[in-house]
Amino acid sequence: MLKDIITHEQCEQLSALIKESETIVCVCHRSPDGDALGACLGWAEFLRTVYGKECEIIIPDQYPDYLQWMPNTEKVVRFDKHQEGCTWTLAHADLVFCLDFNTVSRVGDMQAALEQSKARRVLIDHHLAPDVPAVLSISHPEASSTCELVFRVVWQMGGFEKTDKHFAAPIYCGMMTDTGGFTFNSNDPDIFFIISQLLTKHINKDKIYRNVYHNFRESRLRLMGYVMYEKLVVMPDLHASFFTLTRQDLKRFKFIKGDAEGLVNLPLQIKGHKLSISLREDTEKEKQIWVSTRSVDDFPCNKLCELFFNGGGHLNASGGQLHCTMDEAVEQVKRALLHFEDLLKR
Ligand code: 5GP
Ligand code: MN
Repeated sequence: MLKDIITHEQCEQLSALIKESETIVCVCHRSPDGDALGACLGWAEFLRTVYGKECEIIIPDQYPDYLQWMPNTEKVVRFDKHQEGCTWTLAHADLVFCLDFNTVSRVGDMQAALEQSKARRVLIDHHLAPDVPAVLSISHPEASSTCELVFRVVWQMGGFEKTDKHFAAPIYCGMMTDTGGFTFNSNDPDIFFIISQLLTKHINKDKIYRNVYHNFRESRLRLMGYVMYEKLVVMPDLHASFFTLTRQDLKRFKFIKGDAEGLVNLPLQIKGHKLSISLREDTEKEKQIWVSTRSVDDFPCNKLCELFFNGGGHLNASGGQLHCTMDEAVEQVKRALLHFEDLLKR
């Protein structure tokens, strides 16, 4: 059995909030990943099947192609494509669920519309240091994913029985993607209890894995080969590496959104490796570099990203951004590595 993550009073409060609200919206962070989109789709499905409430899902921008298979993605509305309509919907909503982000700035260009909305907000998230004003905050940084939290809340509210695979598939997907297919952040036995429950809804977990991880275009696979062969800079004594993806590289391999996903994990396959850093130029904005970092054990990617890359995140997976040229970004990486030299050499 699962331990409770919200109190009885919070359960009642949540239930009352849902019942009292006519217009309900779910939102998640910019560049939605499997967890962000999965949590929105799963939560909306719960609201529909258990409370009979239709809930609009508004996401800041496009999600990667490998999530297109998830049930009900056709109902999801993109803020960047329908700015006026989404702003109106947010402004007139009674209740907004903020899923999988800890600060309002993580919703990108949707920030103003979200902040100006008078709707009551409920946060469900697993990032450290939540800073989203809300009437109810369900924040558990120890959880593997927001999808895990959504499951736990639904379970605790007694709603799981009524749900079917339209709930189970996105929730499973988010738990899978935020743990790299249950290879990190996933030692809690509860996770496997939850999976066993989700499987009773007849989801095909093997197919979900293939949909997400074996969904490359040829050019994406070749980009991976190119980066590992030609671009990866390894510093064996630091057990660390970095690579750059310039706009030229991206063009050569017909880059589309999501193509860089997962590349940063690969160098951690080197024996003894502790830290991997990816620097990617934005395809449109000048002097905009997206930074991704991954580590193992106790190396704090979040501290690294806070200190050097205007970002943050989890202990072993964080991100940020730099506003400079790629050469300057590489210099910043070198400064960061120097700062953490002792920890990395150990
Ligand atoms: P990714 O490398 O996949 O873009 O991001 C990994 C994790 O780092 C995300 O799940 C998110 O928690 C965190 N992250 C990425 N970018 C930022 C950022 O700009 N600020 C903060 N605070 N966290 C970020
Ligand atoms: Mn997440």
